[in-house]
Amino acid sequence: MKIRDRLTLMLSVTALLAVSMLGLAIYLSTAQFHKKEFFKRLGERVQLTELIFLEKNEVISEAVRDRFLQRLDLEEEYAITLKRSGLDSLNRLFYQGLANELLKQDSVLFWQGQRQGMAKRYSVESGDYAVIVTALDVFGLTKLNFLKKILPTGGLLCIGLLVAVGWFSINRALMPLERKIEKARRISASELGLRLNVFNPRDELGQLAMTFNSMLDRLQAAFESQKQFVSNASHEMRNPLTAIIGEAELVLSKERSKQEYQEAMEIILQEAKRMNTLTQQLLELAKAESLSTLPDPEKISIEVCLVELIEKFPPQRLRLNFQPCEDDCDIIGNQYLLHTALANLLENALKYSGSEPVSLHFAVEPQRYRITIEDRGIGIPPGEMDKIFQPLYRARNARGLKGHGIGLALSKKIIELHNGSLFFESNVGQGTTATVLLPFC
Ligand code: ADP
Repeated sequence: MKIRDRLTLMLSVTALLAVSMLGLAIYLSTAQFHKKEFFKRLGERVQLTELIFLEKNEVISEAVRDRFLQRLDLEEEYAITLKRSGLDSLNRLFYQGLANELLKQDSVLFWQGQRQGMAKRYSVESGDYAVIVTALDVFGLTKLNFLKKILPTGGLLCIGLLVAVGWFSINRALMPLERKIEKARRISASELGLRLNVFNPRDELGQLAMTFNSMLDRLQAAFESQKQFVSNASHEMRNPLTAIIGEAELVLSKERSKQEYQEAMEIILQEAKRMNTLTQQLLELAKAESLSTLPDPEKISIEVCLVELIEKFPPQRLRLNFQPCEDDCDIIGNQYLLHTALANLLENALKYSGSEPVSLHFAVEPQRYRITIEDRGIGIPPGEMDKIFQPLYRARNARGLKGHGIGLALSKKIIELHNGSLFFESNVGQGTTATVLLPFC
């Protein structure tokens, strides 16, 4: 069921219940009011009847009463002795049990079909009497009959009006949603630039559209970087392939000496090795990118990891500054991956700083370890700082040196899998500092 139909149904049921309850309340309170009012008037008539019949009041004669004090509709008055014979007549004339009730209490209110009645006990010189007046509340009954007719009709009209207005408002409120659905259907990979209109950023539809748009922004960015990656990857692949094909064609174009063949094969082998390294790095990156948690985590010592790392690099170029650990400097990590990440950073520092020395610092801070690798090399141009973590991206000033632009993307991913962070500070021509922060285990 669509939201519009569901809301209209809910509104109809609510309107039906509310209007029915209101109608019932009006009817019952009117009936109650008339009943009370009429019994009150019956009480006055009972008093008057007592004055005339029992007190034999000369001042208010029956003629005067009929003339000046309006009788109730179909009014009947009785004054019945409460002796044995009178009690029987009471029960017979009105209902069984009235006599008993009158003996117990002073006055009794009762119904006789649609007629209302009041009986009251009086004591005069000649004995005890019951004065009873019954009458029909014609005005009240007419009014209640009228209400019985008018309330359902009025109620139905009200419900119809409420449902119509509600349906119209729901339709109006949901109209922008339909437009958004229509537009969202048009958004595809080729039209990722389309965005939903935000009419009111504070209402729910506006917030939904903004959330949807920001999701599209992220998707578009991911698509763009994917495209960029594919184009960079094919470019990186094309270079060694072109060199291999060119060299092979050149050497095969005519008869060559053994040495010439050997030289050509060496170039081809070198380019094939380049391609092999690139493919391996790409595979490694793809594997790391697919991970959402660290594989095979275990307790590893950062100190041991760093010592193993520096063993693989020329010691004469390294300046070490290690703050000793009081306890074992352990983290929960993956030795192989962490080694790969740090080796990439150290390799870059050495590669991009010619023959300059590279400093490696290790410090223990509250709640984390800080590893910094500082070089005095070519630096990273400021405009390219945020791009160097993209796979296959290489800064302008680095393109003359060997590399494929995969190492940093891989290092960053690995460090993030360790819940750590990696950031760079650099000045072109002065050098670069890479900082790795890793939390305690
Ligand atoms: P590459 O194989 O090109 O070194 P990386 O992914 O390791 O690939 O690095 C990406 C780019 O970041 C490099 O091409 C280079 O432009 C820049 N870069 C990284 N480390 C340094 C550094 N220490 N000094 C200068 N530039 C660096």
